[in-house]
Order: sequence, then C-alpha cells, then structure tokens
Amino acid sequence: MVEVKNIEKSFGKLTVLKGVNVHILKGKVIAILGPNGSGKTTLIKCILGLVLPDKGDILVGGENIKNNWTYRNNIGYLPQIARFPENLSVSELFRMIRDLRKNQNTCSNSEKCCSELVSLFQVQTFLNKPLRSLSGGTRQKVNVILALMFNSDLYIFDEPTVGLDPISCVRYKETILKEKQKGKTILLTTHILSEVEEMADEIIFLMEGQIYYQGSPKELMANKKAHTLEKAIAKMLEEHEQIHTC
Ligand code: ADP
Ligand code: MG
Repeated sequence: MVEVKNIEKSFGKLTVLKGVNVHILKGKVIAILGPNGSGKTTLIKCILGLVLPDKGDILVGGENIKNNWTYRNNIGYLPQIARFPENLSVSELFRMIRDLRKNQNTCSNSEKCCSELVSLFQVQTFLNKPLRSLSGGTRQKVNVILALMFNSDLYIFDEPTVGLDPISCVRYKETILKEKQKGKTILLTTHILSEVEEMADEIIFLMEGQIYYQGSPKELMANKKAHTLEKAIAKMLEEHEQIHTC
C-alpha cells in the first residue's frame, strides 16, 4: 500500500530523516513511534506530499507520488494540528469538506457515514456551534469524524487520541479495527502505548532520523522480556542510552 524508499529530509541544518525505508502492507495497522521531534509528523507529511523529501521515493498504491496528487483522494487524514476558519459551525465544516471532495469516489456515502460518526462520538449538540467555541476534545472528535467520513483505503492519523475522553477513545479504536477488518490500511502516531498494544500489527520506532526498531509489539515485548509495550520500549531506550554513554 505504501512504500517509502530511502527518504532523506533536512530543514536547514537539521537533518530529520536520514534514509528511512518503510513498507506498509494493505490491511495493517502501523504505529509510528518515537520521541518528540523524531520526525514522525515529517514522515507522515512526506507520504501525503505536504513535505517534499530531499532524496528518495514514495509509492502509494504502487504509484510514485512525485508530481501526482490524485492518490490523496483515497486518504483520510487527521493532522496533528488541524486549522479551519473559526467562525464555521461544525455542520458547515463537514459540508465544506464534503463539497471539496464531492467528485471523488470516496465521497459517495459520506453524508450517511458522517451522521453515523456524529452520533457515535456524540457531537450532535455541537453541530450548530462555531469551531471557536469548542473544547479541545470536541475539536478532536470533529477531526476524527472528518478523517473517517470518506470511504478511504488509507487512513493517516497523527496523534488522534489527544484530548479524547475515554468513551471516545474506545469508540475510535473500535472504528479503526472495523475499518481494518474491511481491508483498510491505517498509519498512526501516538504516545499512548496501550493503544498501540491493542491495535498495531507493526511498530516503526523512529530515533535520530532513522528506524530504530521495526516489528510487531509482541515481538518487541518478547525480545525485551517485558509484559507491557511501555516497559519494552523503556528497556530498549535504556539499552540505547547505556551503549551511547559507554
Ligand atoms: P515529531 O512529529 O516526531 O514530534 P516532527 O516531524 O514534527 O517530529 O519534527 C521533527 C523535527 O523537524 C523537529 O525538530 C521540528 O522542529 C523540525 N521541523 C518540522 N517541520 C519543520 C519545518 N517546516 N521547518 C523547520 N523545522 C521543522
Ligand atoms: Mg508530530
């Protein structure tokens, strides 16, 4: 579904990605993990064509994304920071995004899907409220709905559960797993490791511009003899620290 081949990206003197290779298979949930500033959002934005890599190639659905925008019609994206005009009401925002995507195949059922998601995430009472009046958590629910309301083959979520209340988190996870069962591919970043343990087939752990670990959460936990992913990752990072301070 997504192939990232030897991507390099610098911002001025700061090299963020130093030869990153990723192969994401269709129907899988992949979690990109790593410390703050390790390049998770940059990698995601490279896949979306929002950041241009200095080197390397990215293929989505077998097509090189260089000078090609149509592949994005098939992606549902939740950005880490979403900004929309603050005076729009929630329902106006939903309508605006549907209008922008109305000629795409993924849009055909979006109205029905949107109203189901509005009920699921209990956003009904906010539909006529302007975005500026919403709490952070309600905004995030709106962003989750926007990312899920089109029938996309690939979902990309950059820290989706930030600010979500526990019920919404559970419903978000259930929805993602249902989408996976339909054969959809999900690429996400998060710092909530229980979420990764529950959902991800594979982890890509970025550190210092490179992939430090790639494999299933279970493999990492077995390898580090840890009962939770949090402990396994802490152990991996402690070992890294020891090697680098010796
Ligand atoms: P993460 O999502 O893992 O927290 P990011 O990919 O957002 O990390 O950022 C990686 C590094 O690149 C950070 O040091 C960040 O400040 C820097 N960076 C990201 N985008 C830009 C940009 N447009 N211009 C300059 N520096 C950037
Ligand atoms: Mg980020």
